[in-house]
Amino acid sequence: MKKESHMMSYGYNPDWSEGSVKPPIFQTSTFVFKNAAEGKRFFEVAYAKSKLKKSEQLGLIYSRLNNPNMQILEERLAILEGSESAAAFVSGMSAISTVMLAFLKPGDALLISNPTYGGTHTFVYNYLKEIGVNIISFDFDDKYDNVMKKLNHSKMENKLKMIYVETPANPTNTLIDLNMVEKIKKTIQDKTGLEIISVCDNTYLGPIWQSPLDFGIDLTCYSATKFLNGHSDVIAGAVMGSKSVISQVKYLRTFLGGMIAPYTAWLLTRSLETLHVRMNYQAENSVKIVNFLKTHKNVDEIYYPGYENMNQSQKEIYKSQCSHGGAMIAFTVIGNEKGAFKFLDSLKLIKLAVSLGSNESLAQHPYSMTHSDVPEDVKDSIGITDGLIRLSIGIEYADDIINDLKQALNKI
Ligand SMILES: *Cc1c(COP(=O)(O)O)cnc(C)c1O
Repeated sequence: MKKESHMMSYGYNPDWSEGSVKPPIFQTSTFVFKNAAEGKRFFEVAYAKSKLKKSEQLGLIYSRLNNPNMQILEERLAILEGSESAAAFVSGMSAISTVMLAFLKPGDALLISNPTYGGTHTFVYNYLKEIGVNIISFDFDDKYDNVMKKLNHSKMENKLKMIYVETPANPTNTLIDLNMVEKIKKTIQDKTGLEIISVCDNTYLGPIWQSPLDFGIDLTCYSATKFLNGHSDVIAGAVMGSKSVISQVKYLRTFLGGMIAPYTAWLLTRSLETLHVRMNYQAENSVKIVNFLKTHKNVDEIYYPGYENMNQSQKEIYKSQCSHGGAMIAFTVIGNEKGAFKFLDSLKLIKLAVSLGSNESLAQHPYSMTHSDVPEDVKDSIGITDGLIRLSIGIEYADDIINDLKQALNKI
């Protein structure tokens, strides 16, 4: 069966819950053991003192460790990503920070692409750096040789524990070559004999239009707040990968306590039922909207994965790792900040708000909003200008979105 067909019922049996066709919300903090020996056995497995036997399943203990809503959600997330395992979190930032803390210790080195989501950037450059993790960064236009040179100059090759990338990068839609990431990982691993974990924030194009695990990436991270939930009513996160790597992430999640709550997991499970319908429709709408933006005299540049004006190397990366450009469009308007604000303030259907991937269309001004704390010279160098608008396309009727854009663009 296709992934979308599993989203309606996988991992849940109505017999468990009075025939209820959908899983109920298991709004409980703790679970009753049948007897003391069972409780003992569950804890042995949960705290990794003993492995599950083939015939055995980990029983329910306490909702910080496990809960049916979290488990059903995780099984479906793993199907969507094509991974062995998944871990669900209370937010995207909880997922990302738990992954980093699970594999990075003071003295280790992290190689990270630039730009990344603002929260990720601040966590890495303020918190991780402060506790003694060495940070080496590279840009979207750095080729393999450049990145290797940077690593070499940093003298941190033998401390490298993680490579972390975000592609497409927010808000400019620039792409990082996942084949290059794996080549770097392999080269350094062969040299030092140390294991390196590669991670990709797949929020923008996953799980439908980009599958980093197929390229050998170890873990994908998500803000499930975005496309996965898609209704702007939940904050959540997810991490997908092999059983062995995810079990290390889950181990730390148990103690940092960032697991998803039962009600949030239930809402997200419901959202996954319509994921393919929503995302495919949002993508169809986005292509129509890019085609419209091309024709408007007050629009300057358009940044959209796969778009005809991308440079050759970006086009090649797109061909190799993306099956669609997705539903996030960035473009510049004439008139700098004044033009951008006039446009944003004139929108009627499209809401002026940050966040993305939801069923309603949203627009914002990265320069002064989501990326306001990025230093100005960095913003300039990565194309975040004061005339840049970031659009997240929803499932409204395409011509209604276009008419709203048109009337607002005409006001500049
Ligand atoms: C929103 C976002 C995050 C952070 O997720 P939260 O759910 O807000 O914690 C991380 N990465 C990307 C690409 C995002 O868009």
